Amino acid sequence: MISSLHKKITSVTKLAELIFFPSFCELCSSLLELPEEKIICQSCWERMIPFTGSYCLCCGRFFEAGVEPHLCQDCVQKRPPFSCHRSYGRYGGRLKDAILLYKYRRFRILGRDFARIIHRALGRDENIWWKADFIVPVPLHPKRQKKRGFNQAQVIAQELAKLRGVEIVDDVLVKVKNAPPQTSLELEERAENVSGAFSVVNRKKIKRKIVILVDDVFTTGSTLNECSSVLKKSGVEDVRALTLAQA
Ligand SMILES: [Zn+2]
Ligand SMILES: [Zn+2]
Repeated sequence: MISSLHKKITSVTKLAELIFFPSFCELCSSLLELPEEKIICQSCWERMIPFTGSYCLCCGRFFEAGVEPHLCQDCVQKRPPFSCHRSYGRYGGRLKDAILLYKYRRFRILGRDFARIIHRALGRDENIWWKADFIVPVPLHPKRQKKRGFNQAQVIAQELAKLRGVEIVDDVLVKVKNAPPQTSLELEERAENVSGAFSVVNRKKIKRKIVILVDDVFTTGSTLNECSSVLKKSGVEDVRALTLAQA
Protein backbone atom coordinates (compact mmCIF):
# COMPACT_ATOMS: atom_id res chain seq x y z
CA MET A 1 0.00 0.00 0.00
CA ILE A 2 2.67 2.47 1.08
CA SER A 3 4.92 1.36 -1.72
CA SER A 4 2.21 1.83 -4.39
CA LEU A 5 1.43 5.29 -2.97
CA HIS A 6 5.12 6.06 -2.99
CA LYS A 7 5.35 4.89 -6.60
CA LYS A 8 2.45 7.16 -7.56
CA ILE A 9 3.98 10.17 -5.82
CA THR A 10 7.34 9.45 -7.48
CA SER A 11 5.72 9.24 -10.92
CA VAL A 12 3.71 12.44 -10.33
CA THR A 13 6.89 14.20 -9.20
CA LYS A 14 8.69 12.87 -12.25
CA LEU A 15 5.89 14.02 -14.54
CA ALA A 16 5.94 17.51 -13.03
CA GLU A 17 9.72 17.55 -13.40
CA LEU A 18 9.44 16.50 -17.08
CA ILE A 19 6.92 19.26 -17.79
CA PHE A 20 8.43 22.11 -15.80
CA PHE A 21 12.14 21.26 -15.59
CA PRO A 22 12.98 18.87 -18.40
CA SER A 23 16.55 17.61 -18.26
CA PHE A 24 18.58 16.09 -21.02
CA CYS A 25 21.38 13.55 -21.28
CA GLU A 26 24.71 15.39 -21.12
CA LEU A 27 26.17 12.95 -23.64
CA CYS A 28 23.47 12.49 -26.31
CA SER A 29 20.94 15.26 -25.47
CA SER A 30 17.97 12.90 -25.32
CA LEU A 31 15.26 13.63 -22.72
CA LEU A 32 15.81 11.97 -19.34
CA GLU A 33 12.49 10.24 -18.76
CA LEU A 34 13.14 7.51 -16.21
CA PRO A 35 13.05 8.43 -12.50
CA GLU A 36 16.54 6.99 -11.94
CA GLU A 37 18.11 8.80 -14.89
CA LYS A 38 20.40 11.61 -13.78
CA ILE A 39 22.87 13.46 -16.04
CA ILE A 40 23.32 10.46 -18.40
CA CYS A 41 20.53 8.44 -20.07
CA GLN A 42 20.07 4.70 -19.77
CA SER A 43 21.03 4.00 -23.36
CA CYS A 44 24.34 5.86 -22.97
CA TRP A 45 25.10 3.78 -19.85
CA GLU A 46 24.38 0.65 -21.86
CA ARG A 47 26.97 1.73 -24.40
CA MET A 48 29.71 1.80 -21.74
CA ILE A 49 30.42 -1.87 -22.12
CA PRO A 50 32.86 -3.78 -19.90
CA PHE A 51 36.03 -5.15 -21.51
CA THR A 52 35.53 -8.82 -22.27
CA GLY A 53 38.78 -9.59 -24.11
CA SER A 54 42.04 -10.97 -22.83
CA TYR A 55 44.30 -9.26 -20.28
CA CYS A 56 47.46 -9.71 -18.22
CA LEU A 57 46.63 -11.81 -15.15
CA CYS A 58 48.81 -9.59 -12.99
CA CYS A 59 48.83 -5.94 -14.13
CA GLY A 60 45.47 -6.23 -15.91
CA ARG A 61 46.74 -4.60 -19.11
CA PHE A 62 44.31 -5.36 -21.95
CA PHE A 63 45.68 -7.41 -24.84
CA GLU A 64 44.79 -6.60 -28.42
CA ALA A 65 44.60 -10.10 -29.84
CA GLY A 66 42.18 -12.81 -28.76
CA VAL A 67 44.67 -14.85 -26.78
CA GLU A 68 44.03 -16.51 -23.41
CA PRO A 69 44.78 -14.37 -20.34
CA HIS A 70 48.45 -14.74 -19.39
CA LEU A 71 51.30 -12.74 -17.83
CA CYS A 72 52.50 -9.85 -20.02
CA GLN A 73 56.20 -9.46 -20.83
CA ASP A 74 56.65 -6.65 -18.27
CA CYS A 75 55.15 -8.73 -15.44
CA VAL A 76 57.25 -11.77 -16.40
CA GLN A 77 60.40 -9.64 -16.11
CA LYS A 78 59.41 -7.78 -12.97
CA ARG A 79 56.20 -8.04 -10.98
CA PRO A 80 54.60 -4.71 -10.03
CA PRO A 81 54.22 -3.90 -6.30
CA PHE A 82 50.51 -4.78 -6.51
CA SER A 83 49.54 -8.41 -7.06
CA CYS A 84 46.52 -7.97 -9.33
CA HIS A 85 44.73 -5.17 -11.18
CA ARG A 86 41.52 -5.10 -13.22
CA SER A 87 39.86 -2.30 -15.21
CA TYR A 88 36.20 -2.11 -16.10
CA GLY A 89 36.58 -0.96 -19.69
CA ARG A 90 38.59 0.88 -22.29
CA TYR A 91 39.08 4.61 -21.88
CA GLY A 92 37.24 5.66 -25.02
CA GLY A 93 33.80 6.39 -26.46
CA ARG A 94 30.96 7.01 -24.03
CA LEU A 95 32.97 5.83 -21.03
CA LYS A 96 35.65 8.44 -21.63
CA ASP A 97 33.04 11.16 -22.20
CA ALA A 98 31.30 10.20 -18.96
CA ILE A 99 34.59 10.27 -17.00
CA LEU A 100 35.38 13.73 -18.37
CA LEU A 101 31.92 14.96 -17.31
CA TYR A 102 32.49 13.49 -13.87
CA LYS A 103 35.91 15.02 -13.32
CA TYR A 104 35.86 18.31 -15.12
CA ARG A 105 32.21 19.30 -14.96
CA ARG A 106 32.04 17.97 -11.44
CA PHE A 107 29.01 15.71 -11.71
CA ARG A 108 29.84 13.96 -8.49
CA ILE A 109 26.66 11.88 -8.62
CA LEU A 110 28.11 9.83 -11.52
CA GLY A 111 30.56 8.21 -9.09
CA ARG A 112 27.75 6.10 -7.71
CA ASP A 113 26.88 4.73 -11.16
CA PHE A 114 30.53 4.11 -12.00
CA ALA A 115 30.82 2.04 -8.84
CA ARG A 116 27.71 0.10 -9.86
CA ILE A 117 29.06 -0.84 -13.28
CA ILE A 118 32.43 -1.82 -11.80
CA HIS A 119 30.66 -3.92 -9.19
CA ARG A 120 28.44 -5.60 -11.77
CA ALA A 121 31.44 -6.59 -13.92
CA LEU A 122 34.14 -7.22 -11.29
CA GLY A 123 32.35 -7.55 -7.97
CA ARG A 124 32.78 -11.30 -7.94
CA ASP A 125 36.39 -11.48 -9.16
CA GLU A 126 38.01 -13.31 -6.26
CA ASN A 127 41.53 -12.48 -7.49
CA ILE A 128 40.65 -9.00 -6.32
CA TRP A 129 38.24 -9.51 -3.43
CA TRP A 130 39.42 -12.64 -1.63
CA LYS A 131 39.95 -11.79 2.05
CA ALA A 132 40.21 -8.07 1.26
CA ASP A 133 40.23 -5.95 4.42
CA PHE A 134 39.97 -2.41 3.08
CA ILE A 135 39.23 -0.33 0.02
CA VAL A 136 41.67 2.59 -0.33
CA PRO A 137 41.05 5.34 -2.91
CA VAL A 138 44.03 6.91 -4.68
CA PRO A 139 44.18 10.31 -2.95
CA LEU A 140 44.30 13.75 -4.50
CA HIS A 141 46.48 16.51 -3.10
CA PRO A 142 44.26 18.58 -0.71
CA LYS A 143 44.69 21.65 -2.94
CA ARG A 144 43.49 19.80 -6.05
CA GLN A 145 40.62 18.22 -4.13
CA LYS A 146 39.49 21.63 -2.87
CA LYS A 147 39.51 22.96 -6.42
CA ARG A 148 37.50 20.03 -7.81
CA GLY A 149 35.20 19.77 -4.81
CA PHE A 150 35.67 16.02 -4.46
CA ASN A 151 38.12 13.19 -5.09
CA GLN A 152 36.79 11.19 -8.03
CA ALA A 153 38.43 7.95 -6.85
CA GLN A 154 37.10 8.38 -3.32
CA VAL A 155 33.46 8.75 -4.42
CA ILE A 156 33.71 5.55 -6.49
CA ALA A 157 35.50 3.77 -3.63
CA GLN A 158 32.80 4.79 -1.11
CA GLU A 159 30.05 3.35 -3.29
CA LEU A 160 32.02 0.19 -4.03
CA ALA A 161 32.62 -0.28 -0.31
CA LYS A 162 28.86 -0.12 0.30
CA LEU A 163 28.02 -2.48 -2.55
CA ARG A 164 30.59 -5.07 -1.58
CA GLY A 165 30.46 -4.61 2.20
CA VAL A 166 34.19 -3.89 2.57
CA GLU A 167 35.33 -1.02 4.77
CA ILE A 168 36.75 2.08 3.08
CA VAL A 169 39.89 3.61 4.56
CA ASP A 170 40.53 7.03 3.12
CA ASP A 171 42.68 8.64 5.79
CA VAL A 172 45.80 6.49 5.56
CA LEU A 173 47.21 7.01 2.08
CA VAL A 174 47.76 10.72 1.44
CA LYS A 175 49.16 12.78 -1.40
CA VAL A 176 51.94 15.03 -0.19
CA LYS A 177 53.24 16.42 -3.48
CA ASN A 178 50.93 18.49 -5.67
CA ALA A 179 52.31 17.14 -8.93
CA PRO A 180 50.86 18.24 -12.28
CA PRO A 181 48.08 15.97 -13.61
CA GLN A 182 49.44 12.77 -15.17
CA THR A 183 47.43 13.42 -18.33
CA SER A 184 49.59 16.46 -19.12
CA LEU A 185 52.80 14.40 -19.22
CA GLU A 186 54.70 12.12 -21.56
CA LEU A 187 55.09 8.45 -20.70
CA GLU A 188 58.55 8.62 -19.12
CA GLU A 189 57.72 11.77 -17.13
CA ARG A 190 54.82 10.11 -15.35
CA ALA A 191 56.79 7.81 -13.07
CA GLU A 192 59.07 10.66 -12.07
CA ASN A 193 56.08 12.92 -11.48
CA VAL A 194 54.51 10.63 -8.87
CA SER A 195 57.75 9.54 -7.23
CA GLY A 196 57.56 10.59 -3.57
CA ALA A 197 54.08 12.03 -4.14
CA PHE A 198 52.30 9.67 -1.71
CA SER A 199 52.76 8.92 1.94
CA VAL A 200 51.15 6.76 4.62
CA VAL A 201 49.90 8.07 7.96
CA ASN A 202 48.63 5.79 10.73
CA ARG A 203 50.50 2.67 9.54
CA LYS A 204 49.10 0.59 12.38
CA LYS A 205 45.67 0.57 10.79
CA ILE A 206 46.82 -1.14 7.61
CA LYS A 207 49.65 -3.32 8.91
CA ARG A 208 49.39 -6.90 7.58
CA LYS A 209 46.10 -6.03 5.84
CA ILE A 210 44.96 -6.75 2.30
CA VAL A 211 43.88 -3.56 0.52
CA ILE A 212 42.19 -2.76 -2.77
CA LEU A 213 43.33 0.49 -4.35
CA VAL A 214 40.67 2.27 -6.40
CA ASP A 215 41.34 4.83 -9.12
CA ASP A 216 39.46 6.21 -12.11
CA VAL A 217 41.87 5.86 -15.02
CA PHE A 218 44.84 3.49 -15.47
CA THR A 219 47.36 4.66 -18.06
CA THR A 220 51.02 3.77 -17.53
CA GLY A 221 50.40 2.29 -14.09
CA SER A 222 52.85 4.67 -12.41
CA THR A 223 50.27 5.99 -9.94
CA LEU A 224 49.22 2.47 -8.89
CA ASN A 225 52.88 1.42 -8.72
CA GLU A 226 53.83 4.32 -6.49
CA CYS A 227 50.81 3.99 -4.18
CA SER A 228 51.30 0.23 -3.90
CA SER A 229 54.97 0.43 -3.07
CA VAL A 230 54.34 3.09 -0.40
CA LEU A 231 51.61 0.87 1.10
CA LYS A 232 53.82 -2.25 0.97
CA LYS A 233 56.69 -0.38 2.65
CA SER A 234 54.24 0.59 5.38
CA GLY A 235 53.47 -3.03 6.18
CA VAL A 236 50.46 -3.82 3.97
CA GLU A 237 50.43 -7.53 3.18
CA ASP A 238 48.93 -7.39 -0.30
CA VAL A 239 47.75 -4.64 -2.63
CA ARG A 240 45.27 -5.24 -5.42
CA ALA A 241 43.70 -2.59 -7.62
CA LEU A 242 40.52 -1.71 -9.46
CA THR A 243 40.13 1.07 -12.03
CA LEU A 244 37.19 2.28 -14.03
CA ALA A 245 38.98 2.65 -17.35
CA GLN A 246 42.24 1.76 -19.03
CA ALA A 247 43.85 4.09 -21.58
ZN1 LIG B 1 22.41 9.63 -23.57
ZN1 LIG C 1 51.26 -7.48 -16.84
